[in-house]
Amino acid sequence: MSPVRSSLEPGFDRKFRAGVLGATGTVGQRLVQLLADHPWFELTEVAASERSSGKKYSDAVNWHLESPIPSAAANLVVKGLDPTLDCDFVFSALDSSVAGPAEEDFARAGYPVVSNSKNHRMSPDVPLLIPEVNAAHLEAIPVQRKNRGYGSGFIVTNPNCSTAGLVLVLKPLADAFGLEKMFVVTLQAVSGAGYPGVPSLDILGNVVPFISGEEEKMEAEPQKLLGRWDGSRFVEAGLGISAHCNRVPVENGHLECLSISLKKIATLREVREALRIAVLPTAVKNPVVVLEEENRPQPRRDVNAGNGMAAVVGRVRECPLLDIKLTLLSHNLLRGAAGAALLNAELLASRGFLTRSRIAASDPAAVPVIQVAE
Ligand code: NAP
Repeated sequence: MSPVRSSLEPGFDRKFRAGVLGATGTVGQRLVQLLADHPWFELTEVAASERSSGKKYSDAVNWHLESPIPSAAANLVVKGLDPTLDCDFVFSALDSSVAGPAEEDFARAGYPVVSNSKNHRMSPDVPLLIPEVNAAHLEAIPVQRKNRGYGSGFIVTNPNCSTAGLVLVLKPLADAFGLEKMFVVTLQAVSGAGYPGVPSLDILGNVVPFISGEEEKMEAEPQKLLGRWDGSRFVEAGLGISAHCNRVPVENGHLECLSISLKKIATLREVREALRIAVLPTAVKNPVVVLEEENRPQPRRDVNAGNGMAAVVGRVRECPLLDIKLTLLSHNLLRGAAGAALLNAELLASRGFLTRSRIAASDPAAVPVIQVAE
């Protein structure tokens, strides 16, 4: 990965106004929390289903987080999915049963849409983004606008929660040694299923060896993320991937056991070194943290590494079947969902893809700097 430094233009005189679609859900609440006191963005709109719309956000939401509902959000009136919100762009944390057409409606109406949902991830003209991995895929946005007749609007997505941490770890290895194939087994937290998610009687004292659609996503999304945009289409990485996905009784954090076959022979020391020098993002100095202890990473101890935005790697060792094996952990709701979307929005802001629909003179923001991979 070759880091490139870019910064917002001078004249960044007020924050971008953000809306959150699906603001009452598990991911939506995290977004609302992360947007409180954000230096570049302010939350001005929340939207959800008919069950919630018309109510005050604090009355509509079943708030699960430890910190209180941010004051800027508590009194907002929840709107429906009509694309007439008073904001410059929207995050989408909508249930996938409604996200597809709703996100298209907003993009058509001129809103940049930063989505968590699966619906558009693999569309041939929609960037699937991890800023530290494939920021160059933003080049697909003008093509998407042209293809779909969008004006100022567009859609970008972040990967599935188990793919996000995985690809953060794969990217430096791909750059250093090349990747041939990999085999991954996940142990995924219950919060990945939204709220109330998996019934307690199904998951307590148990492991469920099936998560609908998850293995397909883990086998498809890394191909696009690690592939390239050739000016008119995404060219997949062509990596052999086999994934087994399991739900385990852990609150937050997806653990993944990974065996990889490399194109170039590497020692374990070289592998650990390659992981340690991964590119710097906005929020964390080290997006990949390598632990030496034999019994780490563990969800309870390591899930919040780098404010929940790092992938934590341990147990790097030789694999008798492929070349190397390791264990990785990432926070499914932060690196895998809300934090990933926020980072994507920061990338869009830093690259001039967000605009303000009306001028206000307040809220001077710090000039931000973002480091991304090209
Ligand atoms: P969730 O807790 O079930 O929340 C779903 C949200 O969608 C709620 O705000 C809900 O509003 C809204 N919604 C449902 N039906 C609607 C409708 N007909 N019209 C308008 N709004 C509607 O789900 P989640 O876990 O936050 O996931 C949200 C999205 O992110 C999903 O697409 C999911 O696949 C994706 N994602 C989740 C994770 C994770 O770890 N949880 C990770 C990555 C991606 P009401 O409260 O009003 O019903």
